[in-house]
Amino acid sequence: MSTAGFETLCLPADAALFARLARLLIDRHGDALADCDLLLPVMAHAPVLRGALLAEAGHALFMPRMLTPALLAARWQGDAPVDPHPRRLLHLVAQLRQQTWLGDVDPWSAAQELLELADALAALPAPPDENALQQGFERAHGLADSAALSLEARLVHAVWHSDCTGTPGHARAVTQALMRAAGAARRPLIHLSARVEPAPAWLELHAARVPVLNVLATRALTDTPVARVLHAAWPPVSPPVLTHAPSRDDALELAGRVRLVGAQSLEQEAQCAASCIAGWLSEGRRNIALVALDREAARRTRALLERRQVLLADETGWKLSTTRAAATVDALLQCFASDGYHRDLLDLLHSPHVAGSLDRDDHAQAIAAIDDWVVRRNHVDGLHALLTDAGREFAGCPAGRLIDALSRAFALMPTHNAPASFRVERLLAALDALGARAALAQDAAGAQVVNLLEQLRADSSGVALDLSFADWRKWLNSEFEQALFRDSAIDSPVVLTPLAATRLRRFDAVYVIGADSRHLAPVRLRGVLGHEGLRRELGLPDSQVAAGQLRDDLAGLIACSDQTVFSWQTQRNGEANLPGVDLQRLDLVLQRAGLPSAICSAPSLADPPPLPELVVSSAPVLDPARVPSRLTASGLADLMACPYRYYARHVLGLGAGDEVEDAMGKGSVGELVHRVLHDFHVAHPRLADAAPPALADALRAQIAAAFDGAIARNFQEHAWADRLHDRADAYIAWAVQRESDGWLFDSGEARRAHVLELPDGAALSLEGRIDRIDRNAEGDVALLDYKLRSAERVRKTLQADDVQLAFYTVLEGGAVSEAAYLALEEDVPVAFIQDDPPAAAQALLSLVSELFPALRNGASLPAHGDEAACLHCDMRGLCRKDWLA
Ligand code: SF4
Repeated sequence: MSTAGFETLCLPADAALFARLARLLIDRHGDALADCDLLLPVMAHAPVLRGALLAEAGHALFMPRMLTPALLAARWQGDAPVDPHPRRLLHLVAQLRQQTWLGDVDPWSAAQELLELADALAALPAPPDENALQQGFERAHGLADSAALSLEARLVHAVWHSDCTGTPGHARAVTQALMRAAGAARRPLIHLSARVEPAPAWLELHAARVPVLNVLATRALTDTPVARVLHAAWPPVSPPVLTHAPSRDDALELAGRVRLVGAQSLEQEAQCAASCIAGWLSEGRRNIALVALDREAARRTRALLERRQVLLADETGWKLSTTRAAATVDALLQCFASDGYHRDLLDLLHSPHVAGSLDRDDHAQAIAAIDDWVVRRNHVDGLHALLTDAGREFAGCPAGRLIDALSRAFALMPTHNAPASFRVERLLAALDALGARAALAQDAAGAQVVNLLEQLRADSSGVALDLSFADWRKWLNSEFEQALFRDSAIDSPVVLTPLAATRLRRFDAVYVIGADSRHLAPVRLRGVLGHEGLRRELGLPDSQVAAGQLRDDLAGLIACSDQTVFSWQTQRNGEANLPGVDLQRLDLVLQRAGLPSAICSAPSLADPPPLPELVVSSAPVLDPARVPSRLTASGLADLMACPYRYYARHVLGLGAGDEVEDAMGKGSVGELVHRVLHDFHVAHPRLADAAPPALADALRAQIAAAFDGAIARNFQEHAWADRLHDRADAYIAWAVQRESDGWLFDSGEARRAHVLELPDGAALSLEGRIDRIDRNAEGDVALLDYKLRSAERVRKTLQADDVQLAFYTVLEGGAVSEAAYLALEEDVPVAFIQDDPPAAAQALLSLVSELFPALRNGASLPAHGDEAACLHCDMRGLCRKDWLA
């Protein structure tokens, strides 16, 4: 190969490919090989080829210069300007927004698609002109003479044309750099391709100056027992080969090297993959690939392997958007977008990158304090309320410093439409205000996130398109989705890699995870403009080509590896999940050759080790020192309903934590009603002084004020407010009648305590808060307890072992002559009066005086709630009543 010219040669793509290529090169070039350039599909092939050349030469050898097309292009890129993808996308969206014919089509998706199409066209030797494009569109759509299609064609052509004549995008810049390299070529070139495809224009241009050997590796030329079975299952498209039903011996050979494994769950699949890879390592295999078709299952497998001290070298990396660092940026934006919605706010605060100047302990303390504030204030959302109210309350505390940092950060975020670069600039400043940029820079993924933001700021500068916050976030998210994070510090015998990266590589063993019909399938190209037919018309690869490439990749993987395992989950979301179509075909071919199906089940998950014998008790006995010295009405009610529940709630202090309610629960409405009635009666101690309609209006005004904030947050709270408004007249009528019966409002929300001397010498403090206390002219006292319940439910409460009214009677002392519940969940309030309050109070005192000394004496607290008590009990899992019964 001494004179310029182009020669194509096909070699079988099997495990001996590099040995054959080495022999060919040494035969042709001998010592002059060092003067050649060798272009490989990926640099991972270089060490294999070097080894093969040394083995073939049998002595030390000056190696040819080995590169990939991408590396060669990078050398010739120089200072040539490139239009970065983020800027191209913004420019194109700005232009598409002026196109009315796009209708409801999302301009971001259309722009993305157009850019992909323009990038694909960049590799074509002679891209079509506008007319050819239009005819292509018309043929692809089966239409003729369509004005809309003509516009589409013009659009695609305009994007392609601006890519050609303006500053090129990355794909065209690579092609142009390769053309420049070809124009200056002085060394013979050997080009190895893993695909049988027409030579690119830059390679042919090389051939005008230097000898070019284009080596195409194709599985169609391999003729081994394994290859014959693979040809029968997946006939090669180019060049086509005649296939026959494989012999049983050929099928046996392949079946010994391939396993198809169905797992019942993600966990089972990951366990199977991790055990299989660990087994290969213990057998001494040192060149193993985990092909990640399903990233979720691969992620779990990686975690399981790391638990066994096996790290994976990740060749592809994970989407940057899936890292914790990117989640911090997203949490900041989400908190801003949702106006400080409490869950988003807490997500942001919990990020380790958002600690500002606080140390670890102060940060934890600040989070706990704000968390508590959010629940206490039932802060659903509202950044302004958070930043002002919480900022005031926490002034001088660690939480206050965190709130200050949030205030500064959110003040920087533009609230109006603004160019992307301005928004990124402000985002970076907001991260600085939170101390997050410096914290992010401390870890590899965080540093990459910061670099990406700085790059995006530079790439989008000068684009005048004003974006809303939502549009800008969409753009930013798509850039985070495209960026990859790779931890290149790990060197391991196990590589995590995509299927395409395994081309022409040899492995001791390969595990392909997620090989179901969804993941093991060619990419389907659907879109607004670049659909299948159009791609074919434009001479671009379509999904048929992609399907052929997928089969070539699978066949290459099996042919070049000693062992290959494919696994998938047989069930997904409760539906049957089949293996990839190509695997089904392979299994069918094996069965037609007389073998049983190659599909087997993954080993069942190991049973968890038996737990040590637990001492279970649902009737604890208290140490005398642990018997409580305080008692509330609800505590006593628990003790009466179920002693174990009393133990869990009031001795252990367990219970469901308070949560922020997006929509008000009945408990919160009840509290609000208590407050409204209390404030109303304090403001109107003598109802006779005003006319009932005026009183009802005043009550309605108080209801409206109390529900104001809740309605602003959630319009549905109107329903509660309206209900109470409607009942205001009836309540006033009842209250006026009560007053004319002689009972005057005296006080409300009254806290009381009564210390009881017990027979065993101990003291018990009874404590509580009485909703309302009325008095009459004789000095008698009446206690009222408001219940936001129906009359029927309140009646049942009184019939059961109720202790609440008696408890309040004890708290108030001897003058109580009336104690009643007032049912408010009715059109007209209904009072339920206890028969003899002093007698009930005396009975309660006797009961308590017996119970608490008994507890100190070793009486147990059994879980024996009845059906009604257990129905809504939050200790149900703890008491184990359902299991021990
Ligand atoms: S579920 Fe029933 S038995 Fe168990 S603690 Fe609750 S009330 Fe008691």
